Amino acid sequence: MIEDSMQIIPLGGLGEFGMNMMAVRYHDDILVVDAGLMFPRDELLGVDLVIPEFTYLLENREKVRAVIVTHGHEDHIGALAYLLKDLPIPVYGTRLTLGFAKGRLAENGVLEQTELHYIEGRQVLEFGTIRAEILNMTHSIADSIGLAITTPVGTVIHTGDFKLDPSPLNRNLTDYARLSALGERGVLALFSDSTNSERPGFTPSETHVRRHIEQIFHSCRNKIIVACFASSIHRIQIILDLASDFCRRVIPIGRSMKENIAIASELGYLNIPPGVLADISDSRTLSAHEQVILSTGSQGEPLAALTRLAFGKHKDFTVQEGDAVVISARVIPGNESSVSRLVNHFCRRGARVYDESQWTMHVSGHASQEELKLMLNMTRPAYFVPIHGEYRQLYAHTLLAREIGMPDERIILAETGDVLVLKPESVRIEGRAPVGRRFIDAGGIAELDELVVRDRRHLSEEGVILAVVAVNKATGKVEGSPELVSRGHVQEEDGAAFLAEARDVIIAALEECTSEEREDSLVLTEVVRAALKRYFRKRTGTRPMIVPVIYEI
Ligand SMILES: [Zn+2]
Ligand SMILES: [Zn+2]
Repeated sequence: MIEDSMQIIPLGGLGEFGMNMMAVRYHDDILVVDAGLMFPRDELLGVDLVIPEFTYLLENREKVRAVIVTHGHEDHIGALAYLLKDLPIPVYGTRLTLGFAKGRLAENGVLEQTELHYIEGRQVLEFGTIRAEILNMTHSIADSIGLAITTPVGTVIHTGDFKLDPSPLNRNLTDYARLSALGERGVLALFSDSTNSERPGFTPSETHVRRHIEQIFHSCRNKIIVACFASSIHRIQIILDLASDFCRRVIPIGRSMKENIAIASELGYLNIPPGVLADISDSRTLSAHEQVILSTGSQGEPLAALTRLAFGKHKDFTVQEGDAVVISARVIPGNESSVSRLVNHFCRRGARVYDESQWTMHVSGHASQEELKLMLNMTRPAYFVPIHGEYRQLYAHTLLAREIGMPDERIILAETGDVLVLKPESVRIEGRAPVGRRFIDAGGIAELDELVVRDRRHLSEEGVILAVVAVNKATGKVEGSPELVSRGHVQEEDGAAFLAEARDVIIAALEECTSEEREDSLVLTEVVRAALKRYFRKRTGTRPMIVPVIYEI
């Protein structure tokens, strides 16, 4: 008799940061866990986001029963709209997670036709022969879950993103009892979050952050500007509570910040003290010591409101001597220089900047080494597969498993695309599934294939525009006229006229920059890209790939 087996196939997120997605298969039933995106790195010019390829799911489309999303972070829900376009399946998630996901689904025109199912901790769902139990998890966003997935072969636990904070905000506790009970009954394999597997000790509690930010509210006599992710609902709650305690009012700026506050408070995940929220028009009647500005842009994104504040270009607020700027977010690897640039500009305006480097302005939402070991000890899996991380984090996680005494042959270091075959007595990697990355251009309108810069289809349809701008480092002035080179753009016939106009567009856009902005090639790159993108879309209806080259002389 052939031994019964189930397969688990990571379609993204193992060996790379972000883009989390996994297929769980038992015979003719497939359950998908998460559909996340990855934000592209600088070298992928002209690409706005990266999502996994769904080839494996499309090849087995009649078997795919549903997708469960573990929480509302983009690296878990960001690819959902694109998945649903190709494969309309029911979506399961907690209330806040689906609350956040809905916006993106509506933008992409798939909300109407999508079946949404709201779920909560300890609920048990059935997808054909696959059973999934929902496990509450503590994370930096409320309403996060993990899963215990059971088939006749056995039970596997997928932690989602988690930490074991014993004093989380709003009592959002990880379900220790249920995890231990599952461990007692027998867990075939644990799939656990590796994001912080290189960090020793325990991840500090969210209440820690409150204490440190409170000090700033005590000492600052001027405006307080707080930057965090729009999805950091716990952090936003802390700011609202402190503002209320210190008789300040909170003015959220940036679209996603306002939207998320509205969604979370409507669903009851955010408790807004009466009279604390204010909008920009109210702010004119408030003096500086009554204001808290709550903004996105903690990663130094060139076009974000926080960057405009740092450069003194925000139309409603100016940063002044004595203001406090709190950067309450992790700096995502790769963004260090943009963030430190921002800090410099705030300091230049006389603000005092508080970030991770001096105080605990932020705690991670992910478990550190001791917590990861506890998770292994609670669930006592026969096999262990680290997930969510680059190869180094996955590897570090395997060392932790070894440290608690798991034998090597029961620790499996798999990467995206590996097919894990689970049998009652064994878990092995057997073969590969088709995986890859899809590159998406802004607004989800155009999609670019693998290796954008070589993408012949895109280039032949829309072309590429190279804009070369020389800036005098000393004066911040643009030197000479910008050079434009076009290849494969449709308007080849009046090419010259278009390019001349485009050149004027660049000059006009650069003239609007302050000299401070002109000294910063990253800002200029974004300004030129945005201006040309707008110009070509309006003038010709095309979306050529725009590659600004700013060089300082
Ligand atoms: Zn997360
Ligand atoms: Zn994540």
